[in-house]
Amino acid sequence: MSGKTFYIETFGCQMNAHDSEKVVGTLLAEGYEQVPTPEQAELVLYNTCSIRDKAEQKVFSRLQNFKREAGKGKVFGVLGCVAQQEGEKIFDRAPHVSLVAGSASYTRLGEMLVQLENGNRRVTGLSLDTEETFDTPFTRRDNPHRAYITIIEGCDKSCAYCVVPFTRGPERSRTSASVMAEARGLAGRGYTEIQLLGQNVNSYRDPSPAGWDFATLLANVAEVPGIRRVRYTTSHPRDFGKSIVDAMEANPVICDHVHLPVQSGSSRVLASMDRLYTRDEYMRRIEWLKTARRPYSITTDIIVGFPGETESDFAQTLDLLDEVQYDSLFSFKYSPRPNTAALAMQDPIPDDEKQRRLSVLQEKQRAIQIRRNAEMIGAIKEVLVEGRNQALGQWIGRTSDNRTLNFTHPASNGHSLIGQYLSVRVTRSGPNSLVGEAI
Ligand code: SAM
Ligand code: SF4
Repeated sequence: MSGKTFYIETFGCQMNAHDSEKVVGTLLAEGYEQVPTPEQAELVLYNTCSIRDKAEQKVFSRLQNFKREAGKGKVFGVLGCVAQQEGEKIFDRAPHVSLVAGSASYTRLGEMLVQLENGNRRVTGLSLDTEETFDTPFTRRDNPHRAYITIIEGCDKSCAYCVVPFTRGPERSRTSASVMAEARGLAGRGYTEIQLLGQNVNSYRDPSPAGWDFATLLANVAEVPGIRRVRYTTSHPRDFGKSIVDAMEANPVICDHVHLPVQSGSSRVLASMDRLYTRDEYMRRIEWLKTARRPYSITTDIIVGFPGETESDFAQTLDLLDEVQYDSLFSFKYSPRPNTAALAMQDPIPDDEKQRRLSVLQEKQRAIQIRRNAEMIGAIKEVLVEGRNQALGQWIGRTSDNRTLNFTHPASNGHSLIGQYLSVRVTRSGPNSLVGEAI
């Protein structure tokens, strides 16, 4: 590859977004130049998601657009979860692809690039037996103020619907020393917000003799001088211990927000999903947050139409929404995935019924959000300024409780406020965001 230009498109979760930042950093360090369109690039990479069938189909439709480019000097690579899941079958489905690599193999990225440069037509990185995490000195972060840090990779749970244990491999935690060094380094370079990432951050276990658990790591990252906000995602309710709430209560640098995916309000469905907690056990965690000294925003993930979900199970999920009063949620129709236990379960729900349940759920949640956001009117909230909406003449801010708060600032006079922390009075609200004025 002469000019060594590359293009990368990322699908899916924050873990994938952060993996792409590491891939980009590694490629830049190898002398590649990033270009904004696939047409301009010699190396075209798709970092893929296979959590639901729709996500998986996207990458094949992208590849389809470039079928005629085969043999014309463009090299195509499929990275991430679809790569891990489909493996060499991708070469059959899209013969112009030359690289197929799952996230557990990115430590070998440099070596794989050399093979591609030497004209190797079929390079794979599909091993899952790595003990390593993808730690690279070359991460190229997209945001100059907020940085992701991976603390744990893979997942050892076996939720009946989920491909992640197959696509990201077993759990591997980073040492606390390496996480702390990265956090201090980021603070030194001017980052003020850190987001700790993992499929299940709560089961973090420091592999070094220090032996920190997640609550200890969270507390220590929040103590790093210069860091003003710490967030974390995702939590598994079974491993979400009281010590995590205690760490949050002890230090307001840890944001007022917990994402605690419940999936269903029915203990029967939770058991069939193999989620390892009942509704009551989940509600105990919610109680810790509701009775805490500061108010926490709670958000969740819900799957509707899991095999065997009855009308009464679904009604229990709707009832859970009333009980918890989430500030936001991600909701999905169940999508059958390869290798998962749920594939063998009887009683599939027809798609139109899944769609109906999804709409009912979303409508209910929308009403809850309209009411909860309206309660914020008059409050003064601190925002980190993340952007500017030129058309509306508003700055885009994010609150500690993870709400978007768009605001006007009469005195900014064209100066960028991005990256600053400001106090904003909330004046209006909608279902998904707030509007206010800087004070
Ligand atoms: N590790 C996290 C957890 O345990 O909650 C999240 C993993 S996944 C990337 C994010 C969400 O996708 C899940 O919480 C679940 O709601 C949804 N999801 C996963 N597999 C799914 C499937 N087969 N069909 C529909 N939604 C799914
Ligand atoms: Fe998937 Fe369950 Fe692991 Fe989350 S905890 S990644 S839903 S298997």
